[in-house]
Amino acid sequence: MDGFEVKEILKELPPTPPKKEVDLIVRAYNFALKAHQGQVRMSGVPYFVHVFETAKNLARYEMDATTIAAGFLHDVLEDTETSEEQLEDEFGKEIVNLVKGVTKLGHIKYRGRMRHIESLRKFLMALAQDYRVLMIKLADRLHNLSTLEFVREDKQKRIALESIEVYAPLADRLGIGRLKGEIEDAAFPFAYPEEYAMVEKLLAERGEERKHALESIYKELVSELKTSPLHVKKVDYRIKHKYSLWKKLQKYDMNIDNIYDLVALRVIVESVEECYAVLGLIHALWKPLPSRIKDYIALPKLNGYQSLHTTIFTGDGGLAEIQIRTEEMHGRAEFGIASHYIYKETKSKKGPKKFEWINEFKHLSQENESSDELLDHLKTDFFNDRIFAFTPAGDVIDLPKGSSVIDFAYSIHSAIGNKASGARVNGKFVSLDTVLHSSDIVEIETRKDGTPKEHWLKFALTTMARKHIRQHLNAKEEKIQAAKVPAKKPKKGAK
Ligand code: MN
Repeated sequence: MDGFEVKEILKELPPTPPKKEVDLIVRAYNFALKAHQGQVRMSGVPYFVHVFETAKNLARYEMDATTIAAGFLHDVLEDTETSEEQLEDEFGKEIVNLVKGVTKLGHIKYRGRMRHIESLRKFLMALAQDYRVLMIKLADRLHNLSTLEFVREDKQKRIALESIEVYAPLADRLGIGRLKGEIEDAAFPFAYPEEYAMVEKLLAERGEERKHALESIYKELVSELKTSPLHVKKVDYRIKHKYSLWKKLQKYDMNIDNIYDLVALRVIVESVEECYAVLGLIHALWKPLPSRIKDYIALPKLNGYQSLHTTIFTGDGGLAEIQIRTEEMHGRAEFGIASHYIYKETKSKKGPKKFEWINEFKHLSQENESSDELLDHLKTDFFNDRIFAFTPAGDVIDLPKGSSVIDFAYSIHSAIGNKASGARVNGKFVSLDTVLHSSDIVEIETRKDGTPKEHWLKFALTTMARKHIRQHLNAKEEKIQAAKVPAKKPKKGAK
């Protein structure tokens, strides 16, 4: 098809892809082209364009050939005459399962906040089975957002909001920062039109100016790096995504002058040691803003993001952010779970070890927790902002914001939670209900005869802590009841 040839997809693959992979993609392309023949999208373009763009998104995000092929085929079971048997004969079980997984997810409809948590739950279930299903769904959504103007107005808003509140956080949790940004920016004008217009205007006024201001810094930095023995792979800059800029503006009184990373310089080097060396070199050239030096290499973000950040005084009254990382960290930041750096480590369809929370979630959803409890868990543990506290040995414990000492104790071990009596936080003795903050160093004090108390439930926040406390209290209650019950049961009928 004109403008939508398969070579456009193959271009996105790594150099010299195996013939088997190329063949698979070409076969899927032809199959989808034929199956969707004659179908037209709401925008008036052939339906095939949609599956083509979905597959292209998957290729851009460095997914494997099987996933790209499934991207071409993701709508054939639902929207064409193709039967499951036909698809399996042609492409095998693996691709059929991917397509069926995507088709099942298609029936989730977003209606308000509770529903979106419910749909998130279904997404996570699918994710725990095979994360590639979710990748196809995200790629599909990204293209649907780009043609949202042809959709009925009330539906536009619903789809846009769902994209920002469900799809983008998922991409974020998978560590695919670029995809999160693309989804949010595509949905932003439909979800919040007025705010979008405001951000556009601000960027038009100030974005170029900022880029300009960075140019002299960029030139000086590049020439300094050239005379150093460091192996610099790339120096470039990125402009902040519009939606995340808007979210940040809200925190800073809508004053764009307070957003230092509107435009940020990025330095990519060969090794971790060189990252720190570059940081030293930069700080020797420009004074850093002390509170803004961030070491996400030693302390990665929850989604695996690693980088050094620093904000420097440019000398002309301005400030600029510089980010320093290795190529590998850069790949992970952009592609997350899909990054071939991670992918080659594991080759597992369930995703790499890094994304252990996926399996954690799977366990949670398998326990016979009621749907309400599971939703509560998602609300507190998945959506809320996180804090990072430390054990005295320096291990990072990651907890939802608002967690207290008791949550920390239970996340180390249930036996420690059960016997906790207090803690030393940054050297000071505090009670179990003390709310923790990021970078607190927490040493739990226990008592041999300690046992969970009912009032702990008033300040325990995490699902894990609450579950253990309740279990303990119930067990105790049963014991008391058992002691009260007379040895012989009254005979039937004897009232
Ligand atoms: Mn689709």
